[in-house]
Amino acid sequence: MVALQDAADGRLARVRVPGGRLTAEAMVTLAAAADELGNGLLDVTARANLQLRGLRAGAEVAGDLAGRLHGAALLPSVAHDRARNVLASPLAGRAPGALGAVGEVDDIVALLDAGICASDALRDLPARFCFLADDGTGAGREIRPDVIVVARGVGHFGVALDGRELDFEGDGPAAVALALGAAEAFVDASGDAWRLSETPGGARTIAAALGLALEPVARAVRTRTFGPGAVSQRDGRIALTGLAPLGQLWPSLLRELARLSPAGVRLSARRTVTLVDLAGSQVAPMRAALAGAGLVLESGSGWVGLTACAGTGACSRALVDVRAAACARALSRSAREPAEHWAACERRCGELPAAPVTVAARAADALEVRYHGEVWDLPSVAAAAARLELEAAR
Ligand code: SF4
Repeated sequence: MVALQDAADGRLARVRVPGGRLTAEAMVTLAAAADELGNGLLDVTARANLQLRGLRAGAEVAGDLAGRLHGAALLPSVAHDRARNVLASPLAGRAPGALGAVGEVDDIVALLDAGICASDALRDLPARFCFLADDGTGAGREIRPDVIVVARGVGHFGVALDGRELDFEGDGPAAVALALGAAEAFVDASGDAWRLSETPGGARTIAAALGLALEPVARAVRTRTFGPGAVSQRDGRIALTGLAPLGQLWPSLLRELARLSPAGVRLSARRTVTLVDLAGSQVAPMRAALAGAGLVLESGSGWVGLTACAGTGACSRALVDVRAAACARALSRSAREPAEHWAACERRCGELPAAPVTVAARAADALEVRYHGEVWDLPSVAAAAARLELEAAR
Protein backbone atom coordinates (compact mmCIF):
# COMPACT_ATOMS: atom_id res chain seq x y z
CA MET A 1 0.00 0.00 0.00
CA VAL A 2 1.25 3.52 -0.81
CA ALA A 3 0.66 6.38 1.63
CA LEU A 4 -1.63 8.96 0.03
CA GLN A 5 -1.85 12.52 1.34
CA ASP A 6 -4.73 14.95 1.03
CA ALA A 7 -4.28 17.91 -1.30
CA ALA A 8 -6.65 20.45 -2.80
CA ASP A 9 -6.65 18.59 -6.13
CA GLY A 10 -7.20 15.10 -4.69
CA ARG A 11 -4.80 12.62 -3.10
CA LEU A 12 -1.07 12.90 -3.63
CA ALA A 13 1.52 10.08 -3.71
CA ARG A 14 5.27 10.64 -3.40
CA VAL A 15 7.42 8.35 -5.53
CA ARG A 16 11.05 8.08 -4.48
CA VAL A 17 13.50 8.07 -7.42
CA PRO A 18 16.95 7.14 -6.03
CA GLY A 19 19.69 9.04 -7.83
CA GLY A 20 17.01 10.68 -9.99
CA ARG A 21 17.28 7.72 -12.40
CA LEU A 22 14.07 6.86 -14.20
CA THR A 23 14.04 3.89 -16.54
CA ALA A 24 11.92 3.95 -19.69
CA GLU A 25 9.71 1.27 -18.11
CA ALA A 26 9.22 3.41 -15.01
CA MET A 27 8.26 6.43 -17.13
CA VAL A 28 5.65 4.42 -19.03
CA THR A 29 4.29 3.03 -15.75
CA LEU A 30 4.08 6.50 -14.19
CA ALA A 31 2.38 7.91 -17.29
CA ALA A 32 -0.29 5.22 -17.14
CA ALA A 33 -0.78 5.70 -13.37
CA ALA A 34 -1.15 9.48 -13.80
CA ASP A 35 -3.68 8.96 -16.62
CA GLU A 36 -5.72 6.18 -15.04
CA LEU A 37 -5.56 6.92 -11.30
CA GLY A 38 -4.81 10.66 -11.10
CA ASN A 39 -5.41 13.98 -12.81
CA GLY A 40 -2.53 13.55 -15.28
CA LEU A 41 -0.04 15.77 -13.46
CA LEU A 42 3.28 14.85 -11.86
CA ASP A 43 5.71 17.15 -10.04
CA VAL A 44 9.48 16.86 -9.79
CA THR A 45 10.28 17.80 -6.18
CA ALA A 46 13.20 19.61 -4.55
CA ARG A 47 14.56 16.12 -3.70
CA ALA A 48 14.37 15.00 -7.36
CA ASN A 49 11.52 12.70 -6.42
CA LEU A 50 8.12 12.65 -8.11
CA GLN A 51 4.61 13.38 -6.90
CA LEU A 52 1.56 11.92 -8.60
CA ARG A 53 -1.32 14.39 -8.23
CA GLY A 54 -5.08 14.28 -8.19
CA LEU A 55 -5.38 10.60 -7.23
CA ARG A 56 -8.82 9.28 -6.36
CA ALA A 57 -9.43 8.38 -2.72
CA GLY A 58 -9.76 4.77 -1.65
CA ALA A 59 -7.76 1.77 -0.58
CA GLU A 60 -8.13 0.19 -4.02
CA VAL A 61 -6.32 3.15 -5.65
CA ALA A 62 -3.49 2.98 -3.09
CA GLY A 63 -3.21 -0.78 -3.62
CA ASP A 64 -3.34 -0.48 -7.42
CA LEU A 65 -0.65 2.22 -7.38
CA ALA A 66 1.57 0.19 -5.03
CA GLY A 67 1.39 -2.77 -7.40
CA ARG A 68 2.31 -0.64 -10.41
CA LEU A 69 5.22 1.07 -8.61
CA HIS A 70 6.52 -2.23 -7.26
CA GLY A 71 6.40 -3.73 -10.76
CA ALA A 72 8.54 -0.85 -12.07
CA ALA A 73 11.08 -1.20 -9.20
CA LEU A 74 9.96 2.15 -7.76
CA LEU A 75 8.78 0.72 -4.43
CA PRO A 76 11.28 -1.85 -3.13
CA SER A 77 10.16 -1.43 0.50
CA VAL A 78 6.90 0.08 1.73
CA ALA A 79 8.32 0.32 5.27
CA HIS A 80 11.30 2.40 4.13
CA ASP A 81 9.63 4.48 1.46
CA ARG A 82 9.68 7.79 3.38
CA ALA A 83 13.41 7.35 4.06
CA ARG A 84 14.60 6.83 0.50
CA ASN A 85 15.77 10.33 -0.43
CA VAL A 86 18.97 9.63 -2.38
CA LEU A 87 20.14 12.26 -4.85
CA ALA A 88 23.04 12.09 -7.26
CA SER A 89 24.90 14.50 -9.49
CA PRO A 90 22.76 14.47 -12.66
CA LEU A 91 25.61 13.57 -15.05
CA ALA A 92 26.81 10.89 -12.58
CA GLY A 93 30.55 11.07 -13.22
CA ARG A 94 30.42 12.17 -16.86
CA ALA A 95 30.82 15.94 -16.43
CA PRO A 96 34.14 17.75 -16.85
CA GLY A 97 35.64 18.02 -13.39
CA ALA A 98 34.00 14.87 -12.09
CA LEU A 99 36.24 12.47 -10.19
CA GLY A 100 36.20 8.70 -10.28
CA ALA A 101 34.92 6.41 -12.99
CA VAL A 102 31.58 6.56 -14.79
CA GLY A 103 29.25 4.10 -13.13
CA GLU A 104 30.65 4.55 -9.63
CA VAL A 105 28.04 7.14 -8.65
CA ASP A 106 25.25 4.84 -9.83
CA ASP A 107 26.83 2.03 -7.78
CA ILE A 108 26.90 4.28 -4.70
CA VAL A 109 23.21 5.16 -5.17
CA ALA A 110 22.29 1.47 -5.50
CA LEU A 111 24.29 0.54 -2.39
CA LEU A 112 22.76 3.40 -0.39
CA ASP A 113 19.21 2.50 -1.40
CA ALA A 114 19.72 -1.20 -0.70
CA GLY A 115 21.35 -0.38 2.65
CA ILE A 116 18.49 1.88 3.68
CA CYS A 117 15.92 -0.79 2.82
CA ALA A 118 17.91 -3.41 4.79
CA SER A 119 18.09 -1.32 7.98
CA ASP A 120 15.24 -1.52 10.49
CA ALA A 121 16.52 1.62 12.24
CA LEU A 122 16.35 3.70 9.06
CA ARG A 123 12.60 3.20 8.73
CA ASP A 124 12.42 6.06 11.22
CA LEU A 125 14.44 8.56 9.16
CA PRO A 126 12.42 11.76 8.72
CA ALA A 127 11.02 12.33 5.22
CA ARG A 128 13.25 15.41 4.81
CA PHE A 129 16.52 13.57 5.53
CA CYS A 130 18.54 13.32 2.35
CA PHE A 131 21.64 11.53 0.99
CA LEU A 132 23.71 12.71 -1.98
CA ALA A 133 26.12 10.74 -4.18
CA ASP A 134 28.44 13.56 -5.33
CA ASP A 135 30.65 12.78 -8.34
CA GLY A 136 33.08 15.51 -7.30
CA THR A 137 31.34 18.31 -9.19
CA GLY A 138 29.28 19.29 -6.16
CA ALA A 139 26.09 19.20 -8.23
CA GLY A 140 23.25 18.56 -5.79
CA ARG A 141 24.95 20.16 -2.79
CA GLU A 142 22.77 23.25 -3.18
CA ILE A 143 19.95 21.52 -1.32
CA ARG A 144 22.29 20.95 1.66
CA PRO A 145 22.04 17.15 1.91
CA ASP A 146 22.42 15.62 5.36
CA VAL A 147 24.94 12.93 4.35
CA ILE A 148 27.14 13.06 1.23
CA VAL A 149 29.25 10.29 -0.27
CA VAL A 150 31.72 12.18 -2.46
CA ALA A 151 34.09 10.82 -5.13
CA ARG A 152 37.75 11.75 -4.65
CA GLY A 153 39.26 9.58 -7.39
CA VAL A 154 38.71 6.18 -9.00
CA GLY A 155 37.57 3.86 -6.21
CA HIS A 156 38.11 6.50 -3.52
CA PHE A 157 35.34 8.23 -1.62
CA GLY A 158 34.89 10.57 1.31
CA VAL A 159 31.82 11.19 3.46
CA ALA A 160 30.50 14.57 4.58
CA LEU A 161 27.89 15.36 7.24
CA ASP A 162 25.87 18.53 6.67
CA GLY A 163 28.59 19.61 4.22
CA ARG A 164 31.54 18.98 6.62
CA GLU A 165 33.95 16.23 5.59
CA LEU A 166 34.70 13.37 7.97
CA ASP A 167 38.33 12.41 8.47
CA PHE A 168 37.81 9.33 6.31
CA GLU A 169 38.62 7.96 2.86
CA GLY A 170 37.72 4.51 1.60
CA ASP A 171 36.25 2.51 -1.23
CA GLY A 172 32.60 2.70 -2.24
CA PRO A 173 31.21 -0.01 0.06
CA ALA A 174 33.15 1.41 3.06
CA ALA A 175 31.91 4.94 2.34
CA VAL A 176 28.32 3.76 1.99
CA ALA A 177 28.56 1.76 5.24
CA LEU A 178 29.79 4.90 6.99
CA ALA A 179 27.03 7.04 5.45
CA LEU A 180 24.38 4.56 6.60
CA GLY A 181 25.99 4.45 10.04
CA ALA A 182 25.78 8.23 10.19
CA ALA A 183 22.08 8.09 9.35
CA GLU A 184 21.50 5.48 12.07
CA ALA A 185 23.43 7.64 14.56
CA PHE A 186 21.19 10.55 13.54
CA VAL A 187 18.07 8.47 14.27
CA ASP A 188 19.46 7.72 17.75
CA ALA A 189 20.43 11.34 18.48
CA SER A 190 17.86 13.37 16.62
CA GLY A 191 14.91 13.63 19.01
CA ASP A 192 12.42 15.76 17.08
CA ALA A 193 14.99 16.99 14.54
CA TRP A 194 14.16 16.50 10.86
CA ARG A 195 17.61 17.36 9.51
CA LEU A 196 21.12 16.52 10.69
CA SER A 197 21.85 20.24 11.10
CA GLU A 198 19.05 20.44 13.71
CA THR A 199 20.54 17.70 15.92
CA PRO A 200 22.10 19.06 19.12
CA GLY A 201 25.77 19.47 18.26
CA GLY A 202 25.02 18.86 14.57
CA ALA A 203 27.65 17.06 12.50
CA ARG A 204 30.10 16.90 15.42
CA THR A 205 27.66 14.82 17.47
CA ILE A 206 27.18 12.33 14.67
CA ALA A 207 30.91 12.18 13.89
CA ALA A 208 31.66 11.44 17.56
CA ALA A 209 29.04 8.68 17.59
CA LEU A 210 30.90 7.12 14.65
CA GLY A 211 34.25 7.41 16.45
CA LEU A 212 35.53 9.86 13.85
CA ALA A 213 36.34 13.55 13.71
CA LEU A 214 35.42 16.18 11.19
CA GLU A 215 38.31 17.50 9.12
CA PRO A 216 39.72 20.51 11.00
CA VAL A 217 39.29 22.90 8.10
CA ALA A 218 36.19 22.91 5.92
CA ARG A 219 37.09 22.04 2.31
CA ALA A 220 36.39 24.49 -0.47
CA VAL A 221 33.69 22.66 -2.37
CA ARG A 222 32.50 23.23 -5.90
CA THR A 223 28.76 23.34 -6.39
CA ARG A 224 28.50 23.16 -10.15
CA THR A 225 25.01 23.31 -11.59
CA PHE A 226 23.72 21.93 -14.87
CA GLY A 227 20.98 23.98 -16.46
CA PRO A 228 19.20 23.55 -19.78
CA GLY A 229 21.27 22.75 -22.87
CA ALA A 230 24.12 20.51 -23.95
CA VAL A 231 27.31 19.66 -22.00
CA SER A 232 30.29 17.78 -23.42
CA GLN A 233 31.00 14.74 -21.29
CA ARG A 234 34.52 13.67 -20.31
CA ASP A 235 34.33 10.92 -22.94
CA GLY A 236 33.41 13.34 -25.75
CA ARG A 237 29.78 12.36 -25.91
CA ILE A 238 27.02 14.83 -25.01
CA ALA A 239 24.58 15.19 -22.13
CA LEU A 240 21.42 17.15 -22.92
CA THR A 241 19.32 18.72 -20.19
CA GLY A 242 15.79 20.09 -20.37
CA LEU A 243 14.10 22.04 -17.60
CA ALA A 244 10.51 21.32 -16.60
CA PRO A 245 8.87 24.69 -15.79
CA LEU A 246 7.40 24.58 -12.28
CA GLY A 247 8.70 21.02 -12.04
CA GLN A 248 5.66 19.76 -13.90
CA LEU A 249 5.61 16.58 -15.99
CA TRP A 250 2.65 14.91 -17.69
CA PRO A 251 1.94 11.51 -19.29
CA SER A 252 2.59 12.38 -22.95
CA LEU A 253 5.94 13.96 -21.99
CA LEU A 254 6.97 10.86 -20.01
CA ARG A 255 6.03 8.58 -22.91
CA GLU A 256 8.02 10.76 -25.31
CA LEU A 257 11.05 10.68 -22.98
CA ALA A 258 10.79 6.89 -22.78
CA ARG A 259 10.66 6.70 -26.58
CA LEU A 260 13.57 9.10 -27.10
CA SER A 261 15.78 7.60 -24.41
CA PRO A 262 15.30 3.84 -23.92
CA ALA A 263 18.26 3.96 -21.49
CA GLY A 264 16.22 6.26 -19.23
CA VAL A 265 16.67 9.81 -17.95
CA ARG A 266 18.03 11.51 -14.83
CA LEU A 267 16.04 13.99 -12.75
CA SER A 268 17.64 16.67 -10.60
CA ALA A 269 16.54 18.82 -7.68
CA ARG A 270 16.63 21.74 -10.13
CA ARG A 271 13.61 20.20 -11.85
CA THR A 272 15.65 19.15 -14.85
CA VAL A 273 15.63 16.01 -17.00
CA THR A 274 19.00 14.90 -18.42
CA LEU A 275 19.74 12.42 -21.21
CA VAL A 276 23.36 11.22 -21.21
CA ASP A 277 25.78 9.53 -23.61
CA LEU A 278 24.39 11.09 -26.80
CA ALA A 279 26.39 11.17 -30.04
CA GLY A 280 26.95 14.64 -31.50
CA SER A 281 24.62 13.86 -34.40
CA GLN A 282 21.78 13.10 -31.99
CA VAL A 283 21.84 16.44 -30.22
CA ALA A 284 19.98 18.70 -32.67
CA PRO A 285 17.06 16.33 -33.33
CA MET A 286 16.89 15.40 -29.63
CA ARG A 287 16.88 19.07 -28.62
CA ALA A 288 14.02 19.77 -31.04
CA ALA A 289 12.05 16.75 -29.78
CA LEU A 290 12.46 17.68 -26.11
CA ALA A 291 11.49 21.30 -26.78
CA GLY A 292 8.51 20.10 -28.80
CA ALA A 293 7.48 17.91 -25.86
CA GLY A 294 7.41 20.94 -23.54
CA LEU A 295 10.84 21.13 -21.85
CA VAL A 296 12.94 24.32 -21.81
CA LEU A 297 16.30 23.86 -23.59
CA GLU A 298 17.55 27.47 -23.73
CA SER A 299 20.24 28.21 -21.15
CA GLY A 300 19.14 31.88 -21.03
CA SER A 301 15.50 31.13 -20.26
CA GLY A 302 13.83 33.07 -17.45
CA TRP A 303 12.80 29.68 -16.03
CA VAL A 304 16.38 28.92 -15.01
CA GLY A 305 16.51 29.18 -11.22
CA LEU A 306 12.81 30.07 -10.96
CA THR A 307 10.59 27.84 -8.82
CA ALA A 308 7.24 27.96 -7.02
CA CYS A 309 5.36 25.79 -4.55
CA ALA A 310 2.29 23.74 -5.54
CA GLY A 311 0.07 26.77 -4.93
CA THR A 312 -3.51 27.58 -5.84
CA GLY A 313 -5.64 24.65 -6.90
CA ALA A 314 -3.20 22.06 -5.53
CA CYS A 315 -2.78 23.22 -1.91
CA SER A 316 -5.58 24.46 0.32
CA ARG A 317 -3.18 26.74 2.26
CA ALA A 318 -2.34 28.86 -0.80
CA LEU A 319 -3.03 32.55 -0.24
CA VAL A 320 -2.00 33.88 -3.66
CA ASP A 321 -1.43 32.35 -7.10
CA VAL A 322 2.35 31.94 -7.09
CA ARG A 323 2.39 29.71 -10.18
CA ALA A 324 0.78 32.43 -12.28
CA ALA A 325 3.27 34.88 -10.76
CA ALA A 326 6.19 32.61 -11.68
CA CYS A 327 4.91 32.23 -15.26
CA ALA A 328 4.83 36.03 -15.58
CA ARG A 329 8.29 36.35 -14.00
CA ALA A 330 9.72 33.78 -16.44
CA LEU A 331 8.88 36.17 -19.28
CA SER A 332 10.56 39.18 -17.69
CA ARG A 333 13.59 37.84 -15.83
CA SER A 334 16.86 36.45 -17.23
CA ALA A 335 18.81 33.31 -16.34
CA ARG A 336 21.60 35.55 -15.01
CA GLU A 337 19.41 36.73 -12.14
CA PRO A 338 19.71 34.95 -8.78
CA ALA A 339 17.62 31.87 -8.06
CA GLU A 340 14.10 32.89 -7.05
CA HIS A 341 11.40 30.90 -5.25
CA TRP A 342 7.74 31.82 -4.75
CA ALA A 343 5.68 30.26 -1.94
CA ALA A 344 1.96 30.78 -1.46
CA CYS A 345 2.13 30.69 2.34
CA GLU A 346 4.70 30.91 5.12
CA ARG A 347 5.45 27.19 5.08
CA ARG A 348 7.74 28.03 2.14
CA CYS A 349 7.61 24.54 0.61
CA GLY A 350 10.35 23.92 -1.94
CA GLU A 351 12.59 26.76 -0.74
CA LEU A 352 16.29 25.89 -0.78
CA PRO A 353 18.30 26.61 2.40
CA ALA A 354 20.44 29.36 0.86
CA ALA A 355 17.93 30.73 -1.65
CA PRO A 356 19.03 34.30 -2.49
CA VAL A 357 15.57 35.55 -3.46
CA THR A 358 12.30 34.29 -1.99
CA VAL A 359 8.75 35.56 -2.01
CA ALA A 360 6.28 34.16 0.53
CA ALA A 361 2.67 35.14 1.15
CA ARG A 362 1.79 35.97 4.75
CA ALA A 363 -1.76 36.94 3.70
CA ALA A 364 -3.58 37.57 0.43
CA ASP A 365 -2.45 41.20 0.62
CA ALA A 366 0.89 40.82 2.41
CA LEU A 367 3.97 39.27 0.76
CA GLU A 368 7.44 39.08 2.24
CA VAL A 369 10.32 39.31 -0.22
CA ARG A 370 13.78 38.31 0.98
CA TYR A 371 16.39 39.68 -1.41
CA HIS A 372 20.03 38.93 -0.60
CA GLY A 373 19.44 39.50 3.12
CA GLU A 374 17.09 42.48 2.73
CA VAL A 375 13.41 42.02 3.62
CA TRP A 376 10.64 43.94 1.85
CA ASP A 377 6.95 43.86 2.77
CA LEU A 378 4.78 44.33 -0.29
CA PRO A 379 1.00 44.31 -0.74
CA SER A 380 0.57 42.16 -3.83
CA VAL A 381 2.12 39.71 -6.27
CA ALA A 382 2.31 42.49 -8.85
CA ALA A 383 4.16 44.76 -6.43
CA ALA A 384 6.64 42.02 -5.55
CA ALA A 385 7.29 41.25 -9.23
CA ALA A 386 7.70 44.95 -10.06
CA ARG A 387 10.22 45.41 -7.23
CA LEU A 388 12.25 42.41 -8.42
CA GLU A 389 12.28 43.80 -11.96
CA LEU A 390 13.47 47.13 -10.62
CA GLU A 391 16.34 45.49 -8.72
CA ALA A 392 17.38 43.53 -11.82
CA ALA A 393 17.49 46.74 -13.85
CA ARG A 394 19.81 48.55 -11.40
S1 SF4 B 1 4.12 26.80 0.73
FE1 SF4 B 1 2.05 26.77 1.60
S2 SF4 B 1 0.68 27.00 -0.15
FE2 SF4 B 1 2.68 26.37 -0.94
S3 SF4 B 1 2.57 24.14 -1.09
FE3 SF4 B 1 3.49 24.66 0.90
S4 SF4 B 1 1.75 24.67 2.33
FE4 SF4 B 1 0.91 24.81 0.25
